[in-house]
Amino acid sequence: MNHYKVIEKYSFGMGDRFAHQAKAQLQACQLIARDGIDVVPVWNKSQREHSFVGSEPSSVLEAARNAVQALHWTGGWHVDADHIRLETVDRFIPHSDFFTLDVADSIGQAAPPEIVAEFVDRHPELMGAITIPGIGTPFQIERADVGRMARKFLLAAQDAGKIYRHIESQKGAANFIAEVSMDETDRPQTPPELLVILAAMADERIPAQTIAPKFTGRFNKGVDYVGDLAQFEREFHDDLAVIAFAIERYGLPQTLKLSVHSGSDKFSLYPIIRRVLPKFDAGLHIKTAGTTWLEELIGLAEAGGDGLALAKEIYAYAFEHIDDLAGPYATVIDIQRTKLPSSSEVANWSSEQFASALRHDPNHPLFNSSLRQLLHVSFKVAARKGEHYLDLLKANEEIVARNVTTNLYQRHLRPLFVGGE
Ligand SMILES: [Zn+2]
Repeated sequence: MNHYKVIEKYSFGMGDRFAHQAKAQLQACQLIARDGIDVVPVWNKSQREHSFVGSEPSSVLEAARNAVQALHWTGGWHVDADHIRLETVDRFIPHSDFFTLDVADSIGQAAPPEIVAEFVDRHPELMGAITIPGIGTPFQIERADVGRMARKFLLAAQDAGKIYRHIESQKGAANFIAEVSMDETDRPQTPPELLVILAAMADERIPAQTIAPKFTGRFNKGVDYVGDLAQFEREFHDDLAVIAFAIERYGLPQTLKLSVHSGSDKFSLYPIIRRVLPKFDAGLHIKTAGTTWLEELIGLAEAGGDGLALAKEIYAYAFEHIDDLAGPYATVIDIQRTKLPSSSEVANWSSEQFASALRHDPNHPLFNSSLRQLLHVSFKVAARKGEHYLDLLKANEEIVARNVTTNLYQRHLRPLFVGGE
């Protein structure tokens, strides 16, 4: 496994749904660099987001390149074809150097018995008491457990191999970073499962740079983590230990690291992540997207006038069409309908009221997490406004950009990498 493109230690995924905030986002990376921490920007956009907004993958590269040039950014930067599959990857290939291979659909499908048997025979080292540096109690894995895990994950690993080799044949291995994502599944993967998955990925000769498991707990869109923090810390810690172990054992890339999807706004996890990473000298990729679109809306609301009027209009539409908008996201949002203000109430709000209800400051008395989640999934409504929305973004560029940068820098990058909040 050589000649692959290597990812930097810390990388931060940013979605820019309407392709107007790349500069403001990059500014957050410049600010954290001034704090002495190099965090590489990765602009990510999935097929799903492109189809909702009606954009092309080339637009992400163009916006990123313009921002890099305008701000004279000399560090690394990447463009992530997020959550692609064999059927969807082709249109991204010329415009991305980072590919998130989504194998979640294959996880539910059982691998054929002969393939499972082959894997189990090939991997006697996965059985018995497995001592992993950093984990106190050795994993106890029986032969039957390996078989069960192989049945569950082998097709996913093969699937990732197929997508990887397809991209490799078009681009060359040296020109792209591969991430394997399993986050959009029903059940979290345990650290022993991660070990089996990494062994299977090594068998497939996928030089993955990042892996995105599904973690325990709820990663709701645009709001804080909901779950057992102590359990998350144990799992995150053990995942890091497993990755460090698997890199040596299976010859995976030294740069392989965890990727945290739906990573925006998980304020209670950032101190944990910051505390645990140094124990393994581990890198991190964290993916955010919709949090930036919400800052656009906050900026427009703060601007008042037509900006505030449009923000209220979008809310009114979202409130009326909550079932359509929230339905597809049922597993990643928790909206309490009784907590949502009526459209007529919101119509009377000031800039300050609207911005404070939406901005993710959990201690602010006006903050409303249900309203925030509803607006998070309502970017399609803004997309339908077309030029009117984009014109307002341009007219209010400064106030919007300030919100975008402050959100990523103060509420995300600093707590993750610097601390002392
Ligand atoms: Zn994901």
